Amino acid sequence: MLIDTHCHLSFKAFDDDWQDAVKRAREKDVQMICVGAARATSEKSITIAQSCDGVFASIGVHPTHVEDEDFNQSWFSDQADRDEVVAIGETGIDHYHLDEAKRDEILSKQEDLLHSHLSLAKEKDLPVILHSRDGKTESTGEAYNHLYSIIKEFGYYKCVLHCFGGDWETAQKFLDLGCMVSFTGIVTFKNASETLIKIVKNVPKDRFMIETDSPYLAPQAMRGKQNEPLFVEYVAKGIAEIRSEEYDDVAQYTTKNAKTFFNL
Ligand SMILES: [Zn+2]
Repeated sequence: MLIDTHCHLSFKAFDDDWQDAVKRAREKDVQMICVGAARATSEKSITIAQSCDGVFASIGVHPTHVEDEDFNQSWFSDQADRDEVVAIGETGIDHYHLDEAKRDEILSKQEDLLHSHLSLAKEKDLPVILHSRDGKTESTGEAYNHLYSIIKEFGYYKCVLHCFGGDWETAQKFLDLGCMVSFTGIVTFKNASETLIKIVKNVPKDRFMIETDSPYLAPQAMRGKQNEPLFVEYVAKGIAEIRSEEYDDVAQYTTKNAKTFFNL
């Protein structure tokens, strides 16, 4: 059994075939967390989770939606009480997709949005799924440092840094707080960076999970196809290879980690 801890079946790319994607995954004993990025996709994630066994939902507003979406506290709070909602997010800090002319204004809105998510998660005792991406021209790790300072100050560490893309020193800082990281099909890419490989090798086995981030980031073996939860198997295989471990062991402990972290 595997758990894809981060997929976007509620996104447009899956409009026509999310049922088939779920079926293909469930036939191979893959469970999944369907992650919302705005109110509409959060709502749809809940609908999908309600209609399929082995599918769970996470609800939140992605930092790139800070300009076009309000975080409706009472709606998100009500939905967070549902059994199928197992996490808050994805949310976080994004320096990549922003209008540089309004940089300070947008980043301060992202900080407020992140605070709202952290407060809600703390109140409901739910984990948080975090996104972070550095700016196009800034040095590596700036968005992660920005995110780190907010998380540290707020003091709620039941968080996962999804699709982790920082360096090992940054990963260690978050791990020291008690946060988890998760890896996508990028670990299978021919051009996967030395930095990422080092993190995959070094992170303790009880501190990371696997995900597809589908429909994005199809693993190397499926390049050109639309990514889907079933392909999380390639992520586990890639990690087993990098860490020189047995595939079955990686499958077993990453599943256990996801069950514990998301309380499934
Ligand atoms: Zn995502």
